[in-house]
Amino acid sequence: MKICIDPDEMQSLALSIRAQGKKIGFVPTMGFLHEGHASLIRIARSQCDFLVVSIFVNPLQFGENEDLDTYPKDDEADERLCLKEDVDLIFRPQSLYDTNHNTYIHVEQLTERLCGASRPTHFRGVCTVVARLFGLVQPTLAVFGEKDYQQLAVIRQFVRDLAMPIEIIGAPLIRDEDGVALSSRNQYLDPAQRIQARTISQALFSVQEELKKTSLDVHTIRQLVRQTLDVDELDYLECIDPVLLHPVTNIDKPTRLLIAAWVGQTRLIDNVLLEP
Ligand code: AMP
Repeated sequence: MKICIDPDEMQSLALSIRAQGKKIGFVPTMGFLHEGHASLIRIARSQCDFLVVSIFVNPLQFGENEDLDTYPKDDEADERLCLKEDVDLIFRPQSLYDTNHNTYIHVEQLTERLCGASRPTHFRGVCTVVARLFGLVQPTLAVFGEKDYQQLAVIRQFVRDLAMPIEIIGAPLIRDEDGVALSSRNQYLDPAQRIQARTISQALFSVQEELKKTSLDVHTIRQLVRQTLDVDELDYLECIDPVLLHPVTNIDKPTRLLIAAWVGQTRLIDNVLLEP
C-alpha cells in the first residue's frame, strides 16, 4: 500500500493508471476511520482495479465555530484499516488548495434546507473539495455513505450537472452495536452523552416499528420521536422524498426520515428509510 501526500504526484499516478485502462475506485474521507468507512472501501474494492482512499480534514467545509481544530486523528490506525481492506493507495495531503485557489462549487436548492440551513457554507466546501479530489484522483467510481444522506444527493447532482464521467455509489449507513450511527465525532461523547446519543436511533426505529402497525403522518411522527428522544437540542427532524429531498407530509411511499441533533457540543446526524 502506497501513501501519497503530494497532490501533483497523486494526479500523475492516477493518470498513468487510467492510461493502462484500469478502473480507479475512490473513497474520500476525513480519517479516524471506522467500520462505516470500511464498508465503503469494501464496496469500492469489489468494483475497481486500483483503490484510493483520501484522508483530508477539509477546512472549507467547517463553519467558524465548528470542530476543525479538534477533529480526531489517528494516522496509524487509519493505515492499519486500509491495509486490512486491501487499499492500494492512501492520499493524505497536508493541504489541498493553492494559495490563489478561487473556484467554489455551489449546488442550489438541494443545499438550502436540512444541514445546509444550519451549516450555510458546508456543502460549498464539500463540493469544492470533492471536485478537486476527483481531478487529482481521476476515479471511475466513488463511494459515499447514506449516513450523510443530503451530501450524497448533493454530490450526485453536481456530478450530473457538470457531466463528470464518474459513477457515484451510495452505501448503507452502518451502526454500532447499540444502534448509534458510526461517526468519527462519536469520539467526543462521554458515557452519559453516549446514552443520550442512543435515543436518536431508538427514536427513528420506533417510527419504523409504528409504521408497521399503522399509517403515520409527519405530525404523529414528530410526537413519537419526542417520546424517545433525549438530546440537548434538536436541529431538525424531517420526512423527505428520498430523491428530491423535499418535505412530505404523509408517508404513502418510501420516505427518508432525517434527524440532526446536538448532544453537548457534538452535532449528530442519522436517518432511516420509512416504508408505508
Ligand atoms: P467522513 O470521514 O465522516 O467525512 O466520511 C467519509 C465517508 O464515509 C462519507 O461518504 C460518509 O457518508 C461515510 N460514512 C461515515 N460514517 C458512515 C456510516 N456510519 N455508515 C456509512 N457510511 C459512513
